[in-house]
Amino acid sequence: MKILVINCGSSSLKYQLLDMTNEGVMAKGLVERIGIEGSKLTQKVEGRDKYIVEKPLANHQEAIQLVIDALIDEKNGVIKSMDEIAAVGHRVVHGGEKYAESVIIDDSVMKALNECVKLAPLHNPPNITGIEACRALMPNVPMVAVFDTAFHQTMPKESYIYALPYELYEKYGVRRYGFHGTSHKYVSQEAAKMIGKDIKDLKLVVCHLGNGASITAVKNGKSFDTSMGFTPLEGLVMGTRSGDLDPAVVTYLMKQLNISADEMDNILNKKSGILGISGVSSDFRDVEDEMNAGHERCKLALDIFHYRVRKYIGSYVAAMDGIDALIFTAGLGENSPETREEVCNGLGALGIKIEKSKNNFKGRREDISAVDSKVKVFVIPTDEELMIARDTLNLVK
Ligand code: ADP
Repeated sequence: MKILVINCGSSSLKYQLLDMTNEGVMAKGLVERIGIEGSKLTQKVEGRDKYIVEKPLANHQEAIQLVIDALIDEKNGVIKSMDEIAAVGHRVVHGGEKYAESVIIDDSVMKALNECVKLAPLHNPPNITGIEACRALMPNVPMVAVFDTAFHQTMPKESYIYALPYELYEKYGVRRYGFHGTSHKYVSQEAAKMIGKDIKDLKLVVCHLGNGASITAVKNGKSFDTSMGFTPLEGLVMGTRSGDLDPAVVTYLMKQLNISADEMDNILNKKSGILGISGVSSDFRDVEDEMNAGHERCKLALDIFHYRVRKYIGSYVAAMDGIDALIFTAGLGENSPETREEVCNGLGALGIKIEKSKNNFKGRREDISAVDSKVKVFVIPTDEELMIARDTLNLVK
């Protein structure tokens, strides 16, 4: 069975076609600048040159038509006809409280997705546009929505309720939702396989450290707590996001700088984090390079980043009363030995110790725990597309 996975942004669209008989990626690609001048599709198939199509694309429907054309292209494609696509899995950022699992899309689901727009005004609309475009082009193909928030719907109330007047939760849905759920779910399932135990018997802490970063306590296979909250702004220090902050800082700065809520939001989401502290870049590689060249605020930015990750790990070990494995994933977690070393440095009291000689690599699955580490430490490259395809397969087969 072949499954198409679609991750639709406001002006871009990522896709993968997977053959679920062996979970192999047949083709993957990116459509950029949808609705803007200079639209372009780039498709990669292993062992072949990149296939690039430059063509004006007025909207997402035209973009998805181009994806289908590229997949069935006689010379550059990987399938003979669209009929080979058995189902489509869509990444959807916010499922609110309604969706704790992936779901087959029908009209009632579309209605519910539209109701979640107020919770994710930037992300859900392009996801919905992508689904609508696919449904129009492939009316007989089953489609599944896989939510970034779904995995975290198992959190207990003490993890997700803010200490605000309770009616603000009831009336406005102000609570912690958590994000990156598809990644945390995939990585924790894979970690259980590496340990060789049932995930229901394990306590795991998953560090998804990329430009956006979050950390999740996975207890008995379920998300027990996670660092992102009502929005992806809460929690760790990120490329451009502040993470945790005294909320009084927000009102104080709005008054001092005489700025609007949108301007404050922009500072917190786009100008803070590693970029804000270092003043240099939001890209961790740039900041590491500058630190090595003696830039003090770059060192400070990274020190704060690592310290916050360590504090979260400690608090999640306390929250679960134990930990069997700590897992690193995403851009930094997979590719930065320095980050993994700095984070684990000082966690000896929790029984977490890595073997330095095993840690010096990028981008592959590995056990990096020291022989005398009580806790396993793994690097597991995340694969959200595969998780989406697995969920899609399970629902449609
Ligand atoms: P997102 O999906 O949130 O945009 P990614 O998971 O792709 O982010 O991670 C991107 C981040 O990973 C970049 O900011 C980059 O700094 C960091 N990164 C990637 N490779 C390395 C590396 N070799 N060393 C340090 N940081 C890296």
